[in-house]
Amino acid sequence: MKKDRTTLKQRKNTTQFQLTIRFIGLLISAVLILSIAIMGITVVELYESTEKQADLLEDSLKNSGGKEAKEWQKVLVEKGSNDSSLYLVHVQLDTGEVIYSSEDAKEVFQEFSQLKQFLVFDRILWTSEIEPYYYASFQKDGAKVTLLVDMEDQFDLIGRIFSLTIFITLAVIILGSLITHRFSKNLSGSLVVMDEEINRLNVSDSKQQLTIPKTPQEVQNISKSFNQLLEKQRVYLKREQQFVTDASHELRTPIAAVRGHVNLIKRRGKSHPEVIPTSLSYIDKESKRLEILVEKLLLLGRLDTQFNTEKLDLSLIIQQTINELKVMMTQEIVIEIETGIFVEGQVEHFYQIARNLVENAMKYTEPSGTITVTLFSVEGTIQLIVEDSGMGIPDEEKAKIFERFYRVDRSRSSEISGTGIGLSIVKELVEKYQGDIIVTDVLPQGTRFAVTFKTQIK
Ligand code: ADP
Repeated sequence: MKKDRTTLKQRKNTTQFQLTIRFIGLLISAVLILSIAIMGITVVELYESTEKQADLLEDSLKNSGGKEAKEWQKVLVEKGSNDSSLYLVHVQLDTGEVIYSSEDAKEVFQEFSQLKQFLVFDRILWTSEIEPYYYASFQKDGAKVTLLVDMEDQFDLIGRIFSLTIFITLAVIILGSLITHRFSKNLSGSLVVMDEEINRLNVSDSKQQLTIPKTPQEVQNISKSFNQLLEKQRVYLKREQQFVTDASHELRTPIAAVRGHVNLIKRRGKSHPEVIPTSLSYIDKESKRLEILVEKLLLLGRLDTQFNTEKLDLSLIIQQTINELKVMMTQEIVIEIETGIFVEGQVEHFYQIARNLVENAMKYTEPSGTITVTLFSVEGTIQLIVEDSGMGIPDEEKAKIFERFYRVDRSRSSEISGTGIGLSIVKELVEKYQGDIIVTDVLPQGTRFAVTFKTQIK
């Protein structure tokens, strides 16, 4: 029962229903106003024309009527021969004598006292047979003349117009409802189809999309936008699934290594205690790798969330990051930092950008090499450049190094510990601040990472 009521309510809220109801309402109002106007004008026109007829008769009687009963009779017979059925005249002479224009007139005037008034038109009277008459009276030479003009034809005409109006109104309502219903069904039909398709849609099936209707334009636009959103969502989903697979894979390797060495100690620790220190150092190394990996994964997860920004001294952040890493650095370092460069953002983000780039330069450059860190502002942009004289990155690998978990030639970097996440974090962070990062070669040997931020706060 409740469900029925909800479906009924839902039906009432559909565009089709609302459009039909409103359109029919409008149609009925328009037809009614038009009918009332036509009826009103016709009634007034007919009333005025009858009034004119009565005035004409009155004028002609005033001009031609005499004092005597005979004279009156003559005049009335003359008038009566022309329009005996149209006019009924009653003359009461001062002598008390009464003259009628015809036998009909006599009958009607005998009932005169019982005649009723028609609504607001006090000049229209009804007989018991419900025949309408226009009423007028005047005095002439002591005689009281009363006129009745038959209005039956006029009332017939009004009746016919009234019936026609009712008929047209009904026809408009029926036809109008059918046409509007069909029309609005066509309009909202594409929305209904769209709703059904969305309900049936399987997001993981990349081939499924919404059908784009030719009309109406609005629904066509919504369908296109929906398909674009769907596409973006699918790319995002795929990326997330890939990320979970890669992350589990990366986590499994160090865990397997740790478990292997724990088992080795358990099995042979007692009989061959010399394996213990080597295994422990492996466990230490692998658990450290795990710790770094988990930290970076957590950082990656946090990147999608909202963050508060504040005004930051970027020059200071870069300098402090280098100072922190300098202790572990074996290479020579050249620092060229312009002071007083400010940005709007979060300290952690800029720290991560600088730390990952400088750490990579340290990892992939031999101890005798040189690392250069430059920060300066030019033409409203901020440039952070980290250069090294290390092993370099082959051209075909340059685009891939920013992908999550990607490491250039695993055999080459197997000696160097790493997760393959660092540069993807850097790229995401840089893009978060509408900046860009490019990687180029340093001749004769080495790599150069240039980060550009477009805005600068003074
Ligand atoms: P990783 O933890 O492996 O360093 P990154 O995402 O930071 O992960 O880097 C991805 C890959 O890019 C590295 O494995 C390395 O092969 C390459 N790479 C990054 N920085 C440098 C660099 N300064 N010189 C040479 N190769 C680099």
